[in-house]
Amino acid sequence: MDFGLPAELADFKASVESFAKERLAAGALQRAHQPDYPRDVAREMAGMGLLGLTIPENKGGQSGSLLAAIIAIQAVATACPRSADVVQAGNFGPIRTFAEYASDEQRERYLPGLLAGEMVIGLGMTEPEAGSAVTDLTTTATPVDGGFVINGTKVFSTHSAEAAVFLVYVRFGPGVGGIGSMLVERGSKGLEVGTPSEFMNGEHWCQLYFDDCFVPESQVLLGEGGFKKQISGFNVERLGNSARSIALGRYAFDEAVAHANQRHQFGRPLAEFQGLQWMFAEAAVKLESAQLLLQRAVVTVDANGIPSAYDTAVAKFAANDAGYTAANVAVQAMGATGFSKESLVEYCFRRTRGWMIAGGSTEILKNRIAESVFNRRFDQRAPQR
Ligand SMILES: Cc1cc2nc3c(=O)[nH]c(=O)nc-3n(C[C@H](O)[C@H](O)[C@H](O)COP(=O)(O)OP(=O)(O)OC[C@H]3O[C@@H](n4cnc5c(N)ncnc54)[C@H](O)[C@@H]3O)c2cc1C
Repeated sequence: MDFGLPAELADFKASVESFAKERLAAGALQRAHQPDYPRDVAREMAGMGLLGLTIPENKGGQSGSLLAAIIAIQAVATACPRSADVVQAGNFGPIRTFAEYASDEQRERYLPGLLAGEMVIGLGMTEPEAGSAVTDLTTTATPVDGGFVINGTKVFSTHSAEAAVFLVYVRFGPGVGGIGSMLVERGSKGLEVGTPSEFMNGEHWCQLYFDDCFVPESQVLLGEGGFKKQISGFNVERLGNSARSIALGRYAFDEAVAHANQRHQFGRPLAEFQGLQWMFAEAAVKLESAQLLLQRAVVTVDANGIPSAYDTAVAKFAANDAGYTAANVAVQAMGATGFSKESLVEYCFRRTRGWMIAGGSTEILKNRIAESVFNRRFDQRAPQR
């Protein structure tokens, strides 16, 4: 078995790394502390063909592999961790579910702007009372003449401070079967985007209030019964999240290795203290094994390019754990220097922490893995008396 990349992908990786070093490295620290979506980077990446890699050619993309998109995320992050979010937004986020299931009309309306890096799409899934238990969502889409009115509230949506359009999970009817999704444009009458709040990782998010928000029928992405497809698309998003976890953990790890070689205490380089060596060794094992699990998940996809739920859960759990562990080790090994905002290491630490919650928390992933281990479903709801 060959664990190396095929020549074509190795060349692609080298070219993205060299683009990132040349064009993105200089502004990396400033970008990390800026909550705004880096549109200049998005436009440049669009020009390089790094957006829409995973979208089929007949749907406006480039029919590239998920592996290529993972490589792009990780190659960009070697120079600018924040810019890896642009590769995510252009390949793995709600854009992927959108491109997969959009009508021709919907695709023509939004995809060119998204792939040009001119606009970004947000995902409105989580609600104040429906987080991990996403199927408890109560945002309703009620049929009216010519379309639907939406009522409800969404929280924590990435890019909500600037998204031009939202892919919103709604309830057309009762139960899991009643869930589907609609595309709602920012500025729609009845949609209020609240004032931005800030996550610990520096990202801004706005509460989305839908108050009798009319949306025409043509904006339905997936009608009743769409939930399963939405979650399959979401598995792709999870892999982008996994790739960034490993990439930012790796970034912090590499910085800390360089620091430990150069910094002397007690007359010796930090690298010579075994207490630190073992921390680095354990983080290295986690990063390497998570990378292999991620690569397995992205190459073992179905005919539509969708990875399996099990492979995704295993890869995301390992990646979230590895990225966070590596960044945490890096902060510790660099002492106050790693804890300072002048270093990108503390940024990687805060970002990797968030991915243990976002996109399916590590506990929810373990629940999913346990179901495969025991080959049965474990209902998380309290038994009915
Ligand atoms: C950085 C970031 C970006 C995000 N981006 C988006 C976005 O773009 N769009 C969007 O809709 N949402 C987004 N979210 C929200 C995210 O999907 C939710 O935070 C997540 O689903 C968890 O929901 P919750 O925060 O309500 O926590 P809760 O569901 O209240 O969970 C709290 C804790 O309890 C644990 N828990 C819950 N149920 C179980 C169980 N059955 N077994 C074991 N443990 C359990 C959880 O793992 C967690 O540790 C984002 C969140 C973060 C942090």
